[in-house]
Amino acid sequence: MSNYVEETIGKYEKYINPAQAKLFRFMGLASIEGHAEGWTITDSEGQEFIDCLGGYGMFALGHRHPKVVEAVEKELHAMPMCGKVLFNRPMADLAEITPGELQYSFFVNSGTESVEGCLKVARLATKRKKFVAAKNAFHGKTFGSLTATGRDMYREPFKPLLDGFTHVEYGNAAAVDAAVDEDTAAVILEPVQGEGGIIVPPAGYLREVKEICEKKGALLIADEVQTGIGRTGEWFGVNHDGVTPDLMACAKALGGGVMPIGAIIGTPRAWAGLIEAPFLHTSTFGGNQLACAAGVAAIKAIKEEDMLRRGREAGAYLKAGLEAIAAEYPSVIKEVRGRGMMIGIELTKEGAGGMLMSLMINQHIIVAYTLNNPKVIRMEPPLIMPKEVIDHVLEAFRGAVKETADVIEDL
Ligand code: PLP
Repeated sequence: MSNYVEETIGKYEKYINPAQAKLFRFMGLASIEGHAEGWTITDSEGQEFIDCLGGYGMFALGHRHPKVVEAVEKELHAMPMCGKVLFNRPMADLAEITPGELQYSFFVNSGTESVEGCLKVARLATKRKKFVAAKNAFHGKTFGSLTATGRDMYREPFKPLLDGFTHVEYGNAAAVDAAVDEDTAAVILEPVQGEGGIIVPPAGYLREVKEICEKKGALLIADEVQTGIGRTGEWFGVNHDGVTPDLMACAKALGGGVMPIGAIIGTPRAWAGLIEAPFLHTSTFGGNQLACAAGVAAIKAIKEEDMLRRGREAGAYLKAGLEAIAAEYPSVIKEVRGRGMMIGIELTKEGAGGMLMSLMINQHIIVAYTLNNPKVIRMEPPLIMPKEVIDHVLEAFRGAVKETADVIEDL
C-alpha cells in the first residue's frame, strides 16, 4: 500500500471514524478516489473500478458529464454562490423546468433537506399536523425525515422524534386510507422504496393513495430523491402510475453528479402558505448558481442524449441477466426486482450480502447492499452504461454468486 493510501486511511482512523475505516479496509476498499469519468472510478494508484452503485443513485448521467462540468465552470468564473438579494438566473431557469402542475420550487442542498421542506410546506398549506409514512421507508436522517423513516435502528437512539407520524405497510392503499384522518397534513411515500430494499409497489398504488389524499384533504408527498431524474427510466417514479403529487422531494441526480442540490417542488395549492410568507423557509446555500446551473445542464443532457430510453433499455438488460443468474443459483438469490437502472437482488441469507459485495469489489466492481435491508444488494449504475460493460458486470457477478453458493450453508 502506498504512503498516500496509508496516510489517508490513517487520517480517517484518527479524525473521521476508526470503525468506518476498519469496515472499509475489511471490505477490500483500501483505495482512495482519484478521478472518475462515465461509469469508471480510478483510484490514486491508477486502479479502475466500474461504478454499479452510482453514489446511491446520484450518478444517473455518470461521473463528470462534460456538459454539466462546462455549465458549472462557467458559473464558477461568474458568480458561484448567490448573494440572495438580487435575482438569480440559473435558479429561475431550473425552477421553470418542473413538470405540469408542479409549478413552484425551493432549492436546498441535499435529499434530507428537501424532505424536511416538504413536511413543513405540507403543514403550512393544510394547517394540519399529522403525517402518514410507510414502514421500511427511508427519507433521510435529520429529525423530520428521520421521523418519516421506517427503520427503528436509525430512529431509536435519537428519540423523542417529531409527534404525529404513523407508519403503515408499503404498497397497501387500504392501510393508508385507514391511517389518514382530518388532521393528516400529508402522506409521504417513495415511488419505489430504495434503501428499504428496492421494493416496487403494486401498479396503481400511488394513484389510489392520491385519490385517498384528495378525498380527505391531505397532500401527497412523493420522495423522489432516489427515484427522480431518470433513475427508473422515467423522469420521476410517479410517472409509472401517471400521478402528480402535491409535493415532491428531489435531490441526488438533480445536480448531474457534479453538484449537491435538492428541491422542494409543489403545486400552487401546496405553495399557498409560502406565497403568503416567502421567508418562512430559507437557506443560505440553497439555489446557488453552481448547483442550479448543474441541474439545468443535467436535465438538458438527459433529453439531448436520450438517457431515459437508454436507462430503461440498459436496466431491462441488466435485470434479465441477473434473473438468469438467480435461476441458476436459487440457494443464493431469492428475487431480482426493480425499475430502470434501480435494481435490487434479494439474497436468501443476510450474510451473503457482505460476501458478494467483497467478491465484486475484488473484481473492481462497486456494488453495495441497501441501508435498511442488508439482504438486498442494489445496483444503480449510470443510465448510460453500455451493454458490453453490463455483460462484464454480469459475468463477474455470476462468478461471485457461484463462489457464495459453495459456502451458503455456512453463512
Ligand atoms: N430520501 C430518499 C428516498 C433517499 O434515498 C435518501 C438517501 O438515500 C434521502 C431521502 C436522503 O438524501 P440525502 O442523503 O441527500 O440527505
